[in-house]
Amino acid sequence: MKPHLKIAIIGSGTAGLAAAAYLQKDGHHPEIFERFDEPKPLGAGLLLQPTGLACLANLGLDKKAINEGAIIHNIYGSASHNNVIFDISYRDLKPHYFGVGIHRGTLFTLLYEEVTRLHVPIHTGCEIIDTHCTHEQRYITDKDGDTHGPFDLVIDASGMRSPLRKHGQIKLDKPYPFGAIWGVLDDPDQAFGKDYLQQRYDGAHMMVGMLAIGRAPNCPTPKCTFFWSLPPGGYEQWLKNGLDEWKETVTGYWPELEPFMDQFKTTDDLAHAQYSDIIMKRWHEDRLIFIGDAAHNTSPQLGQGANLGLADAFILSQILKDHDDINDALCAYSKARKNHIYFYQIASRWLTPFFQSHNKFAGLIRDASFGLLCKTPYVKTEMLRTLAGIKTGLFTHMNPGQWHTDYDLRTSSTDSQPSYLTNKPNTGK
Ligand SMILES: Cc1cc2nc3c(=O)[nH]c(=O)nc-3n(C[C@H](O)[C@H](O)[C@H](O)COP(=O)(O)OP(=O)(O)OC[C@H]3O[C@@H](n4cnc5c(N)ncnc54)[C@H](O)[C@@H]3O)c2cc1C
Repeated sequence: MKPHLKIAIIGSGTAGLAAAAYLQKDGHHPEIFERFDEPKPLGAGLLLQPTGLACLANLGLDKKAINEGAIIHNIYGSASHNNVIFDISYRDLKPHYFGVGIHRGTLFTLLYEEVTRLHVPIHTGCEIIDTHCTHEQRYITDKDGDTHGPFDLVIDASGMRSPLRKHGQIKLDKPYPFGAIWGVLDDPDQAFGKDYLQQRYDGAHMMVGMLAIGRAPNCPTPKCTFFWSLPPGGYEQWLKNGLDEWKETVTGYWPELEPFMDQFKTTDDLAHAQYSDIIMKRWHEDRLIFIGDAAHNTSPQLGQGANLGLADAFILSQILKDHDDINDALCAYSKARKNHIYFYQIASRWLTPFFQSHNKFAGLIRDASFGLLCKTPYVKTEMLRTLAGIKTGLFTHMNPGQWHTDYDLRTSSTDSQPSYLTNKPNTGK
């Protein structure tokens, strides 16, 4: 595709900002349309996988993410009576793989500063509600009735509640019954702040977790993201009950959290998150493409959403280079993304009831089997590939090194230092 396409990107979340940065660098003319008056991140922290890091490496932002975030090597989860459910390490898959726990504000700032540095125009306070295509050009309309365009291409990266996803394009849009509350905690002594995503479970109805996320923007104190699973209607009940009784419940399950719970002073210190299974019949229409959560929201159980959004943005930019016709490129994009995205949609849907449901059997099966499965070499490898974001099917996976052109992912010999990138050419292995 010749550069200089005029592209509208709806939404300045992870997927939208990344798409803007890739496309501007490729010589196109993207513009971002964001509903908020000031672009901002929502939520607490998330886990970047080797896939997401490989995509950030293409923008030269991976090292910054690693420096600001917390390197995560291990995932540990236990149920009552210290029954170990997960005890796995990225290193068991490849010595140079790891995740990075990162504050959403940090990831947002990295991408936002890059987009600003590249002079991508951002139209704020502009909520897009509709789009139409005439004479091979696409237009978008905001909620004040103003029309913007013409554009050669519109990218919808407006998240799980995309207004452009029309009824006929949706195969499934089903909210998960359980949700979660999330908060950020200071962890100055890094009691939880190193190397681990940790979770505790009781049956499938209770899940509490701590993820080290490094520093927040403009704050040197190491932080953790705390999360607590909520049953249907649980948020309203939690707001009504107040914090004291709830804090006792949390520390009853996990006494080491007691010194941290005082940091939550009011219910406003925790954000409520709900999620849906969104499956579209296809991600493209005439000169319109859906990426990120707008295309494929899932439960966050596998920690993949932002990583999938980064991959969508990167692969779209690559595929636009290889095609002369936009609609051909969009078809090729959908084909290229299908296996990776479908695998994680299905895996999230399959796995979530074991961690967030009222199904007693799911909890019992998990407690009886997951610990053993983690020790079975084949299953353990497949679990780790799933976690690392590299699965493309039940028996297939890919190498995130193939997604960035100059580098292959490598850790230093000390392994804990953020010098994991070397100028090693990508071998594609
Ligand atoms: C509790 C929880 C935990 C998670 N943990 C992880 C994790 O560990 N790892 C991981 O990879 N993912 C995780 N995720 C998923 C991840 O947060 C999302 O997949 C990711 O943020 C989606 O990015 P996005 O850019 O597609 O959408 P969003 O981040 O939702 O961004 C959409 C943007 O579009 C704007 N917008 C919306 N509507 C309009 C409109 N009509 N007009 C203009 N602008 C609009 C919004 O204001 C926003 O700026 C988690 C999600 C949840 C809920």
